[in-house]
Amino acid sequence: MAKSKILIVEDEPALAEVLTYNLQREGYEVVAARAGHEGLRKGQMLLPDLIILDLMLPGLSGLDICRELKGSARTAHVPILMLTAKAEETDQVIGFAVGADDYVTKPFSVKVLLQRIKVLLRRVANPEPAGDILESSGICIDKRAHQVSVEGEPVSLTPTEFRLLETLLKQPGRAFTRPDLLESAVGDSIVLDRTIDVHIKSLRRKLGDAGQRIETVRGVGYRFQEDPRN
Ligand code: CA
Repeated sequence: MAKSKILIVEDEPALAEVLTYNLQREGYEVVAARAGHEGLRKGQMLLPDLIILDLMLPGLSGLDICRELKGSARTAHVPILMLTAKAEETDQVIGFAVGADDYVTKPFSVKVLLQRIKVLLRRVANPEPAGDILESSGICIDKRAHQVSVEGEPVSLTPTEFRLLETLLKQPGRAFTRPDLLESAVGDSIVLDRTIDVHIKSLRRKLGDAGQRIETVRGVGYRFQEDPRN
C-alpha cells in the first residue's frame, strides 16, 4: 500500500521539523511548505491525502487557503486539520465555517495530533459500501460517488458535513445528541459540542431550502424531519 502523503503548511521551522520527524516515523510521506502561497500551490499540485494547516502564516492565511481548497471540486475532498496558537473558540468556529475537517490548538501533544490524523485518514480510506443511495425530501446521497444533490443539483460538502447528513438521513425523525453526532460524523468526541453546531449551520446553508429539514431539538441536538410531501 502506498504511503499517505501529508502536506504540512507551518511557518515555525522548529514545529515543522518536529511534525515532519514524527509523521515520517509513523510511515507517512511528508511535504512541507513555510508560507501561505506556497502551501496553497502545493496543496493544489500535489493533492495530498491530508493537509496540516497553520492558521497564521506569512502571505496567505490558513483560513484563506482552506476556503480556496474547499471551494474547488478538485481539492474539496482533501481533509484539512487546522492548527492555531489561540485557544479562542471564534477561531475554531471560523475554521469550520471555511470547511476545515478538524482543529488542534497549540500547544498540542504530538500523540493527540497523530490520533486525529489517523481518524481523518481512516474516514477517507473507508468509504461506505458501493452502490448505496440514500434519498429523502429531495436530498440524495450517493455514497459510492461520495456526492450529494438537492433536487438534482449537486452540492459540495466537506467530508464531515457529508457524514453528518448521512447520519441524520439514515434515521429520519430520530433526535441525535451532539455527542452522538460527533461520534458518528467526526469520529471522536474530544472536540467541543459547539463544533457540531457550526457544521450543521454550514450544512443547512449549503442545502438551501432543504436545509430546513434539519431541525434543532432543544436541549438535545438535531434531527432530520422528512418532508411530508415527498
Ligand atoms: Ca504560524
